[in-house]
Amino acid sequence: MEIRLIGDPVLRKRAKKVEKIDENLKDVIDEMFSTMYLYDGVGLAAPQVGISLRFFIMDSRENEGDSLTANKEKGKKVVINPEIIEFVGEEVSFEEGCLSIPDIFEDVVRPEGVKVRYQDLSGNIIEEELHGYQARIFQHETDHLDGILFTDKLPIVKKARLKKELNKLIEKGKKRALELGEAIKT
Ligand SMILES: [Zn+2]
Repeated sequence: MEIRLIGDPVLRKRAKKVEKIDENLKDVIDEMFSTMYLYDGVGLAAPQVGISLRFFIMDSRENEGDSLTANKEKGKKVVINPEIIEFVGEEVSFEEGCLSIPDIFEDVVRPEGVKVRYQDLSGNIIEEELHGYQARIFQHETDHLDGILFTDKLPIVKKARLKKELNKLIEKGKKRALELGEAIKT
């Protein structure tokens, strides 16, 4: 799978609700996990691979100090039609990056925790409270479904400093979008 870069219009669209969790979606999600691990990502939202639907995957294990084999499923999630019901705790600053904005890492301020609701791959409705690294990834990935990128959230001074670098990426992303064509529909 090709990762869409900032500048690709699919990353700026509001993604549509997932209506049907079927085999096709499961195959796409398997492929997304392979792609995410290949690029050492901890989260990947559907629009980042050209699919304008409301789902993402995440795997927070490495940063929680769990070896991948020792704690196989903890922190690994498939999140379909997510909603953030409530923000919990203080605003905290934490460094973020994004596979769609390579080589740029900046501190972003967000609430420490979130109460969330979403569907898993079996269609079950899950409600849970997430904190720390998991809450951070969940917020970053949910933003992707609304066309928001983490660089949008930076203070004006930081944005100005990154402008040249971002504009270069945006040009590259636009070009790649033309090569890859329209968003894939599942
Ligand atoms: Zn991202």
